[in-house]
Amino acid sequence: MPRVMIRCPNTQKLVPTGFAMEKNAFDNPTFDLTNNTVHCPACGKDHTWSKRDAVLESANYKPPPR
Ligand SMILES: [Zn+2]
Repeated sequence: MPRVMIRCPNTQKLVPTGFAMEKNAFDNPTFDLTNNTVHCPACGKDHTWSKRDAVLESANYKPPPR
């Protein structure tokens, strides 16, 4: 199951939030995440994040063609 990642504002690295879920669940507009806090392994600080800050990790992810 892909992990939910956020981009660290200090290092620009993707860091795991501790959440994991399937893409169709994550993409569901009725599903929301707000004011979560993660201890960032990239910079050592805590970041508060919401769903709009998050992306799903996927080794197979390909951006849709434009
Ligand atoms: Zn950070």
